[in-house]
Amino acid sequence: MFENLEAESNILIYAVPFFVVFIFFELWIDLRESAKSYEARDTISSLTMGLGNLLINTSAKVFVLGIFWFIYDNYRLFTLDFSYLWVWIFVFFAEDFTYYWFHRISHSVRYFWASHVVHHSSKRYNLSTALRQTWTGTLAGGFLFWAWLPIMGVHPIVVGILQSTSLIYQFWIHTEKIVRLPRFIEFLFNTPSHHRVHHSSEPRYLDRNHAGILIIWDRIFRTFVPENGRPTYGLTVNIDSFNPLVIAFNEWGTILSDFFTNGLSIRNRMMYIFGPPGWSHDNSRKTSKELRLEEEQLNQSIKSQKE
Ligand SMILES: [Zn+2]
Ligand SMILES: [Zn+2]
Repeated sequence: MFENLEAESNILIYAVPFFVVFIFFELWIDLRESAKSYEARDTISSLTMGLGNLLINTSAKVFVLGIFWFIYDNYRLFTLDFSYLWVWIFVFFAEDFTYYWFHRISHSVRYFWASHVVHHSSKRYNLSTALRQTWTGTLAGGFLFWAWLPIMGVHPIVVGILQSTSLIYQFWIHTEKIVRLPRFIEFLFNTPSHHRVHHSSEPRYLDRNHAGILIIWDRIFRTFVPENGRPTYGLTVNIDSFNPLVIAFNEWGTILSDFFTNGLSIRNRMMYIFGPPGWSHDNSRKTSKELRLEEEQLNQSIKSQKE
């Protein structure tokens, strides 16, 4: 069934012209409204990151597909029949669930954050931000989160198709032009409103709304926060560079220099790689948990002063 689909699995390439058209459309609205959500240098950086990601991933996909194919051929527990609709529904949920955990862990383990930080490095929020993607994610082994799917009998091509679908879905939610959608959509799906929260650098919004397509995972695992007011976008400590090489490798560089800091214990060195982003041995930086706690305590004291 899937022999001829191999070439079609990288549907992301076919989506590129649509991405370009919609970016121009949003830019046109933006200019008309004088909303200024676009900035030339920022957009060029985002598009360069997207193009680099596409080039790297087109070749990396062959490698990942090879590994998944090997797992599927030799170690799969079941053989799923994709002529049944329920099988597709099951694997859709399974992939979206996997994306949620991959994304959540990408925010809580610095090793994975070093790749994912790229996507959060813009202080702007528009459709071009969606294309600001990592160059190092596949090399860092992010694809291994999906390896359980071929073990369960999901064909590697299907894994590829679902991953691309998720990424294409996540394109349109990177906009400020859509404020809120009907309630049942906001309840079930990841929407522009939910994802704006995810791109915020405000403590109350940090590490929230990790969903790919369905927001239900954030609701189930208690990482959901509704949008309340226009967020401030970017990182708690911004990279402040439009240079694609700096954007792609900055965090890897700081991991290396942290790791080789003089006089650290092995545990502290490991924490600089596998601890949460913002962790430091001398408390000179702050993790998102610490930032959130700080903000909550501040709000508490303001509240008690008022009383
Ligand atoms: Zn993220
Ligand atoms: Zn995003």
